[in-house]
Amino acid sequence: NADVAMYHAKQQGRNNYQFYTAEMNACAYDQLMLETSLRHALERDEFVLYYQPQIDMPSGDIVGVEALIRWNHPELGLVPPNDFIPLLEVTGLIVPVGEWVIRTACRQVRTWLDEGHPPLTMAVNLSARQFREQNLKSNIAAILAETNIPANLLELEITESIVMENVQETVEILRQFKDMGLKVAIDDFGTGASSLSYLKSFPVDTLKISHDFVLNLPADNDDAAIAKAVITLARNMSLGSVAEGVETSEQMDFLRLQQCERMQGYLFSKALPPEQMAALLEERRRAAAT
Ligand code: C2E
Ligand code: MG
Ligand code: MG
Ligand code: MG
Repeated sequence: NADVAMYHAKQQGRNNYQFYTAEMNACAYDQLMLETSLRHALERDEFVLYYQPQIDMPSGDIVGVEALIRWNHPELGLVPPNDFIPLLEVTGLIVPVGEWVIRTACRQVRTWLDEGHPPLTMAVNLSARQFREQNLKSNIAAILAETNIPANLLELEITESIVMENVQETVEILRQFKDMGLKVAIDDFGTGASSLSYLKSFPVDTLKISHDFVLNLPADNDDAAIAKAVITLARNMSLGSVAEGVETSEQMDFLRLQQCERMQGYLFSKALPPEQMAALLEERRRAAAT
């Protein structure tokens, strides 16, 4: 299929192909095998959602999680999303898989509520294709009804490249999300091609400060200036701010000083499988009770 061939061509990289034809073919073959097994992954129940806690500052409470998909491949083991999301996109499989992600994430929220945990925001990543898909709104509405969770606990993460693709349509879709009571976050804010002026017309709730800008905090003056500016921008526009990829207490201290609202990163926790996330929530509850 032409889409997949195009994808392979892009993945191979222009500079290498004349030297590494054999490897390239092997790689294309691997990709094809991968695609075949991806087609069956959903029915074989091989996808898993991991959950990474989002920490409120300065309270330190877990106030939300981001759902991050993994593929539990029978031979390859746990495959990270960057290795298969692009393939899901070009094949269109992202639509049913994306719906599975939203349903699984919402069911998880329902389980935690039933277990008596304080309500946690569930952030879910949307891909470009999913965002523009006609049935997305009605599917989400059905999932919210089915799991009986409030819409404002679901936060849809979209990237700047997604929102900038068709600005007119984006505004329309975001308005519909807002009417439904859903939350929307711009993921990796500042790394894409978006213009600040669009923030005025896009009804979004949260800016996520890219891991790229957090990595070299606080030493790198440019990154420090950018992180500070994004947090200030969010606050002055009454938007929430989430810093991702927080790994050190120095990064946390800097971000806290700038009054970043939520943080996410290995300093607090990596993304956890459901059992471990449940254990963490249970531990938090016991700690709060004593
Ligand atoms: P993202 O949405 O920007 O997610 C953040 C990524 O950073 C995650 O990688 C997370 O595990 C990683 N991370 C979190 N804290 C730290 C840290 O302190 N240091 C470092 N170095 N990394 C950290 P992951 O899970 O491999 O996901 C990669 C990307 O795949 C995500 O980036 C998102 O764009 C995409 N993705 C994940 N799940 C889904 C999904 O269900 N649907 C769609 N469409 N895309 C998804
Ligand atoms: Mg994300
Ligand atoms: Mg991100
Ligand atoms: Mg706060």
